[in-house]
Amino acid sequence: MSDMPRRCCISIDVDPIPCYYKIHSLGTPPADLRSRILCTSLPRFAAILAARDIKATFFIVAEDVDVHALGNDAIAMRAALREIRDLGHEIANHSYNHPYELARLGRIETREQLGKAHDLLSDFTGSPIRGFRAPGYDISPTTLEELIARNYLYDSSVFPAPGYYFAKALVMGALRLMGRKSGAVMTNVRALTAPIRPYHPSAEAPWRRGASSLVELPVAVTSLSRTPVIGTNLLLAPRWLRDHWLRSMAKRDFFNLEMHGIDLCDAEDDDIPSALVARQPDLRVPATVKMASLAAILDTLIASGTEMCTLREFASTIE
Ligand SMILES: [Zn+2]
Repeated sequence: MSDMPRRCCISIDVDPIPCYYKIHSLGTPPADLRSRILCTSLPRFAAILAARDIKATFFIVAEDVDVHALGNDAIAMRAALREIRDLGHEIANHSYNHPYELARLGRIETREQLGKAHDLLSDFTGSPIRGFRAPGYDISPTTLEELIARNYLYDSSVFPAPGYYFAKALVMGALRLMGRKSGAVMTNVRALTAPIRPYHPSAEAPWRRGASSLVELPVAVTSLSRTPVIGTNLLLAPRWLRDHWLRSMAKRDFFNLEMHGIDLCDAEDDDIPSALVARQPDLRVPATVKMASLAAILDTLIASGTEMCTLREFASTIE
């Protein structure tokens, strides 16, 4: 295939297990699982990327590197993350402890979430973090302002996918009917009509074009139906559909391929509790199968001349 996007950035949101317990309303997760996704999936991503000399962006929940908060778990996660850092991948800010309601928090709490994460992660990497992705894909004017105050180059939180939005609304509604409450929070509906290509956001309404200095890099969706072209979908799709989605990005200058750490996890190998596996059936697919699928996606892109870079590298090329 030669009809592929010109540039592609792989980014991985490394959400820890408690996030999934929260979304699916599963109560408190076993404490020994805190470092599981980060410590098992990062080496898998690293191996696939290194074999192709690709640098990616890892969005990290900063509490995971906070030894004061998490003790030995943080020490283990710092070790795994050090490998990623030393391979030259970008480490970016995914908030301090992943509040799904970040976009609804006030100024002081927002500043605390972003600032604490910024300081911890900048300290860990040895240079200032320049990119952010909000938990739950929701960016507020306050968040944008705080990012600009910290000299961020880009935000990559906008996910203009109505299908995803309505699926999430259905799941949350169903949980409510069962007398349970999901920890997820509905995204601002206005963000669904946001541009699908990179843009400078408006300070008052970051889901619209404006004159902010940083650049918004929306997560990839197809042009017409706005179907999410994200890791979980791509890894599990049959080959014809996978190739169809990749081709749908062909006319883009930029393909922002978002993945999650859990995408390369494996219920059996990684000893994930069955309660969570029941909610995330993709965990039943062996990690080796999903790794092979990711490798095939990357090989398809590379073979057609798509240039692979980090979100930070891409953002620095935008006027
Ligand atoms: Zn996340």
